[in-house]
Amino acid sequence: MTPNTDLNLPLFERAKGVIPGGVNSPVRAFNAVGGIPRFVKRAQGPYFWDTNDQQFVDYIGSWGPMILGHGHPEVIETVQAAVLGGFSFGAPTEREVTLAEKIRELVPSMEMVRLVSSGTEAGMSALRLARGYTGRNKIIKFNGCYHGHADSLLVKAGSGLATFGSSSSAGVPADVVKDTIVLEYNDVAQLEEAFSKMGNEVACVILEPIAGNMNFVRASVEFTRRIRELTQEHGALMIYDEVMTGFRVALGCAQSIYAQKIEGFAPDLTVLGKVIGGGMPMAAFGGRKEIMQKLSPLGPVYQAGTLSGNPIATACGLKTLELISQPGFHSELHLKTGHLMQGLKAEADDAGIPFSIDWQGGLFGFYLLADLPTTYHEVMKTDGALFNKFYHGMLERGHYFAPALYEAGFVSAAHTEADIDCTVEAAREVFKTL
Ligand SMILES: *Cc1c(COP(=O)(O)O)cnc(C)c1O
Repeated sequence: MTPNTDLNLPLFERAKGVIPGGVNSPVRAFNAVGGIPRFVKRAQGPYFWDTNDQQFVDYIGSWGPMILGHGHPEVIETVQAAVLGGFSFGAPTEREVTLAEKIRELVPSMEMVRLVSSGTEAGMSALRLARGYTGRNKIIKFNGCYHGHADSLLVKAGSGLATFGSSSSAGVPADVVKDTIVLEYNDVAQLEEAFSKMGNEVACVILEPIAGNMNFVRASVEFTRRIRELTQEHGALMIYDEVMTGFRVALGCAQSIYAQKIEGFAPDLTVLGKVIGGGMPMAAFGGRKEIMQKLSPLGPVYQAGTLSGNPIATACGLKTLELISQPGFHSELHLKTGHLMQGLKAEADDAGIPFSIDWQGGLFGFYLLADLPTTYHEVMKTDGALFNKFYHGMLERGHYFAPALYEAGFVSAAHTEADIDCTVEAAREVFKTL
């Protein structure tokens, strides 16, 4: 595509005239990889077509929600029927109850559930609830984990051990983040030190069980176990942010995987988003009954939403959850994602490019590093220029990965082995050019 025929270019210019940076969420702007973002015209199954009508194999799927692929016929039928029944009521519906029951059935630690409209909102509300329930202010998060853009979570690590972080965004007063402690992911010693110093002031520890916002870094079993033990010993809550991993890595979410390795393991609160809306604005948080009952109107922790439990979003989410509950859904997805990862790895090895991979269910990560990283610091050792060359090589050939090296990738049930083979073949060509 020459610059004069690329219709994305004038559209991006037009967008930049009226939308800051031309996008409604920053990663879409391609700042990390350079170049012009692709404006999507339509999508079907594992593909989308951009404004030039170029077809892409889509390994983003709206950053996770489209686990069934785009435009699944049963989901469309369900949403169409829901639309005819009314867009929004601001009064309770049976569908919300059914969805909450379905979530509890699949994730038993979520004894009670509240539906909201975005992962950010769910994370922010879970945090307020943890503070309200414990009567404490301090929260612990980990470097490289993303929990949405609530003020108190926009924090970067300070220097030195267990220091309080500084805000990573303008507009967030230092006072708002003064109770947010940022620790290194997977660092058990640092965690223990933080708890020995101030454990009795900590309201909660929040983490991504598999950090998809560092591409793909698993919390070690030992790290997870120690968070669970230390929070319990000190009367703090453990919040699992499963917005990305929820229903994507396993039907029981990432917590079902850790529960196989740590006896009796369950977080106190869980945050969900992405897959549970099936592409509609929908998220949720939930957990132990005695904690959830502190929420208004039962308890003193305020939380509300005009569009919460929206009837069309709940219909879409419920249908999506039903379809992915079929036996073997996630094991099949895991196999397919594995073929993609192993295929890319074999081609990288052939070309002598350092490459490491990991995946679970329909979530994957690869690094242009010889060994899988375990912390944010290690993730950032990736050669960014090399990644960008790989990225654009794949993009030109019609394979759409995350436009940043620290973001995960997503495979849907609609991707075929032929799609995966085609992507691996393209990667073979691209690796040779690196
Ligand atoms: C995407 C994401 C969020 C934020 O969800 P939004 O719906 O974008 O607000 C929070 N936590 C994690 C782990 C995420 O991946």
